[in-house]
Amino acid sequence: MYSRCVLSENPVVPAVPFAVNSVCVPLRFLTIVFGAGPEEWPALYPQCGGRLQSPIDINTSGILYDPSLQPFDLNKYGVYDGAQMNLSNVGGHTAEVKYSGTPIIISGGSLPDDYVLDQFHFHWGEKDDEGSEHTLDKHRAPMELHIVHHMHHYNSSEAISHPYGLAVLAFFFEIGEENENFKQLLDYFPQIIHKDQEVHITPFPLSKLLPKGSTTYYRYFGSLTTPPCYETVIWTLFKDRIQISEDQINKFRNLTTVREDGNGTKEVKIGRDFRPIQELHERRVYSNDVSIQVCATSKGTRDRLTLAAVVTSALLLVLTLC
Ligand SMILES: [Zn+2]
Repeated sequence: MYSRCVLSENPVVPAVPFAVNSVCVPLRFLTIVFGAGPEEWPALYPQCGGRLQSPIDINTSGILYDPSLQPFDLNKYGVYDGAQMNLSNVGGHTAEVKYSGTPIIISGGSLPDDYVLDQFHFHWGEKDDEGSEHTLDKHRAPMELHIVHHMHHYNSSEAISHPYGLAVLAFFFEIGEENENFKQLLDYFPQIIHKDQEVHITPFPLSKLLPKGSTTYYRYFGSLTTPPCYETVIWTLFKDRIQISEDQINKFRNLTTVREDGNGTKEVKIGRDFRPIQELHERRVYSNDVSIQVCATSKGTRDRLTLAAVVTSALLLVLTLC
């Protein structure tokens, strides 16, 4: 049933000045390897204690329907001529496919600009009832895919500290039948079992890994989920899930990292590579799901709500980094 929303403008991200001077961002923030646990991050990386942090719980009863949210044009995900793809066990934290070569650019989705695909990676756990970073009504999915893009006006390292510099498209997983579309990727996993192993892989279309025809999504403004936790990410979480079998997800769980213990270092399974849920604070989550009956009230109200959060965050960033 259609909601009777009248919002017709396009204020998906707040049009506010985000007073971050990228010159203020010291290089040490980009080069420190985060060895501390998430509870220690705010002391080491002040942005990690901000009010626009990710991941969050998507409380479906609090989502606002926004008819101005446009569909995405993800056609370029089907193109891989000229793309180069490298799969790696990044720092013993995640499995990541990094792109180089011909840029893959997405548009639409009411993003403020075109965005260039950088990489995609996964978050998983030790059991089927944990793994995703975001939760839906407090429930964790067994895995979550993050497809990371940067605003095309910047390069990827500049973009992470610019307002709306990054756009991450996320998909939850569910356990089910074997997904043949993952076979090509997973066949490389024995070559990245150990921390920092990397392998060049034969390019394939990213669209192959995603649910067909996914259009319904949730939208909010948040942060990187690892230090330095910059609050510069436009998050899009799709409603449709990717199906994968238990055997296939176990290939992720077999990847290892290196941990310190009293007797030195030892190799262990990565285990749980997801950050705890962060407070929503002043933010709202919006969706183009027409079955949601509560509408975004008005552009002005929504922008004011987000303005307070963004300005607070920007001031914190400037004060702590300059
Ligand atoms: Zn991620």
